[in-house]
Amino acid sequence: MKETQKFSGDTAFEVCRHLAQSIGVRVQGLESTVTTKDYLCTQLSQYGLENVHAEAFPVLTSRQKKAQIIAGTRTFEGLSFGLSGSTESEGVSGPVVKYTSWSWNPTPDNLSRFSDKIVILYTRDFSQQVVQDLIQAGVQGIIYVTYHPGIPPKLPMGFIYSALNTGDFDLLPPIISVSYQDGAKLLANARELTILADVTILQSESFNVIGEIPGLEPDVILFSAHYDSAPYSPGAADNAAGTAILLELARVFAASTPRWTLRFVACGSEECALQGARHYCQTHSTSLDEIKLNLNFDVQGARIGNLALGVIGEKRLLTRVNQAIHQWNPEMRLAPTGGDNRIFAYYGIPAVHWWFGGGVNFLLNHTPHDRIDNIAPQSLEFVGRASEVFVNELNQQRTLRFSIPQSQHKKNTQSIESIMMENNHL
Ligand SMILES: [Zn+2]
Repeated sequence: MKETQKFSGDTAFEVCRHLAQSIGVRVQGLESTVTTKDYLCTQLSQYGLENVHAEAFPVLTSRQKKAQIIAGTRTFEGLSFGLSGSTESEGVSGPVVKYTSWSWNPTPDNLSRFSDKIVILYTRDFSQQVVQDLIQAGVQGIIYVTYHPGIPPKLPMGFIYSALNTGDFDLLPPIISVSYQDGAKLLANARELTILADVTILQSESFNVIGEIPGLEPDVILFSAHYDSAPYSPGAADNAAGTAILLELARVFAASTPRWTLRFVACGSEECALQGARHYCQTHSTSLDEIKLNLNFDVQGARIGNLALGVIGEKRLLTRVNQAIHQWNPEMRLAPTGGDNRIFAYYGIPAVHWWFGGGVNFLLNHTPHDRIDNIAPQSLEFVGRASEVFVNELNQQRTLRFSIPQSQHKKNTQSIESIMMENNHL
């Protein structure tokens, strides 16, 4: 076996900068998706990977032009959720109902008080259920107040496309996120509000970008990272940084002949119900058996952060990762957490989810502030080197067999099936 090159944090950082700054916001299905796909194909080809290609799949996406709230003489600017409703040019007006509670837990009785109202929500727990309940109650509009001060309006994790399962998009109310500061003013004073929203929902395409380094053995280690970002967000930590680690690993391993075949998949549309990984598994269902392990990189590169690993697989896998990288002292869990890795695990592939974030990411992910200036080359290198060591150790092994314990598989399957059910028209 040839020696591998060393993972370079600086080289990965330049890839991350290109994605997060030169390309910028990478919402699935919009123009930047094509630009990113082409860039990723070019990079993987340049590194000398084989069979580099993109696989297209259909997605729903949206363009937002206007999201304003008018309270008396004041206008507040917000951000519309990915798939949410538009208003006529004069907007929708109505009396305000406030819902401020740690979690969303209204009774059916309670729900009726929201009908024909504009609802201001201040709750940590903004889920698809909230949107469904409020649409059913017949609200005029929803204003989501960002939970933390000092950051732009946030679209809560994973629920950007919370109205996906609605079916009839014409019936969708406008759903707008406002900053904590603006939300506080609205909560304190507003009795009557007008919402103006201009959202166009359109049918488009996203892509998975794939390349391979053939090994001495046909068994595959599948590396994955999603390259799409949340609306309005340049997605530096989430997940230009993970994509940069993926590419840098591809570059360094391409200079070697590994024992195991290394496949690299940059997934599209993770932010919208993990569609890229799902499309990959469905398209390649007859050959998924050859994939013995998934290493997924999502939320990476935080200037100040710590490494956390989520393992969906037997304890031995966790131990192996731990042995390989114990000098880095990560926080490790045997748990179905993460993003695209949960899809691979759903299809029976043991998965290790690599996460390098910190408080900053929890606050800034899915906001316009998830920018390159919060990313450090050292943090990319830290995770890159750790996973490089781990894979090199796997390359010394004679077998690549890990299993997923029943209990974990069941838990993961339940959570994935609820995502699929909530988005049943996908
Ligand atoms: Zn992500």
